[in-house]
Amino acid sequence: MAWHVRGVVLPDDEVRDLWFVGDRVTLEPVPDAITLTDRGFVLPGLVDAHCHLGIRPGGAPVQGLDEARALSAVDRGAGVLAIRDAGSPYPYPSLDDDPDVPRLARAGRHVAPPKRYLRDVGVEVPAEDVVAAVTQQAAAGNGWVKLVGDWIDREVGDLAPAWDTSVFAPAIAAAHAAGARVAVHTFAEESVAALVRAGVDSVEHGTGLSEEDIAEMARRGTVLVPTMINIDRFGEIAAQAEERFPGYARHMVALRDKFPAVVAAAHDAGVPIYVGSDAGGGIEHGMAAEEMLLLHEKAGLSTMDVLRAGSWGAREWLGFPGLVEGGLADCVVYDTDPRADLTALRTPRLIMLKGRVIAS
Ligand SMILES: [Zn+2]
Repeated sequence: MAWHVRGVVLPDDEVRDLWFVGDRVTLEPVPDAITLTDRGFVLPGLVDAHCHLGIRPGGAPVQGLDEARALSAVDRGAGVLAIRDAGSPYPYPSLDDDPDVPRLARAGRHVAPPKRYLRDVGVEVPAEDVVAAVTQQAAAGNGWVKLVGDWIDREVGDLAPAWDTSVFAPAIAAAHAAGARVAVHTFAEESVAALVRAGVDSVEHGTGLSEEDIAEMARRGTVLVPTMINIDRFGEIAAQAEERFPGYARHMVALRDKFPAVVAAAHDAGVPIYVGSDAGGGIEHGMAAEEMLLLHEKAGLSTMDVLRAGSWGAREWLGFPGLVEGGLADCVVYDTDPRADLTALRTPRLIMLKGRVIAS
């Protein structure tokens, strides 16, 4: 079975024809292909580059493959055809090849400090065991390791590095030696400064970034995944913590307030930015388009830059080629031009994943 799609294939501004055979794209006409659409705006699907399929709403680990699969279907229905799982307490390597599940770039479990991080989510290890844990989790994932760079330290009453920052460089080197890239959760200033200089591949959240850190990221090509939906909810975290940890609460609110300017500065400096909703736990799935709207409205990225950050650019970064000769057979078609108005992304008309039509 072969499919034919005709429309404006972004980022180019021309009407083009695409054919899909099995799980591949071709630009060469395929006789007898069935035409699915002859109008609209075509993307290789959206990408949620920070998502958790192994954490159920509320924060507990999912209890089986079907639950992770069901969460991924929510994202898929919203046009998300590639996901980077930024840490999963439930192992689901078999979903990598599941025809119903979006393309997966996965970390293993979060590598976190003892008794500080979210319950039951990470592997919690002291500083001396971080390198071994990273090597183990690199093998559990399929190309990524997730480190928790900082979290509240209740004895300090504020955010603090997960371990002594001298641990970061050997941990990142161990992941790289195992063939994995490293994504790091970080909200605070001291930890992110050390992590960027220790060679982390992607900064998740990154509320504590300084101008110097941003310049260093631009120089190194370090990625930022801002998760703006998550940062917008810092006020709720602060309100809950206010009584016992007033310094932490103030810090979180200050980080939230300056964050749009941080993201704008990173973008202006040339730091690659990708879209991540941080779905799982406290944030619902299917929100990638909303994250894209926030990057445009709050951080001032152009609609074209947002589309690159949440579609073809992110796919290239994760290793999932899009709508090019020999690319992977994923596409989403919209009725109106998302370059003119990103709210078009809320209503995909046609969704194809791995050469199969999901919705049309
Ligand atoms: Zn996350």
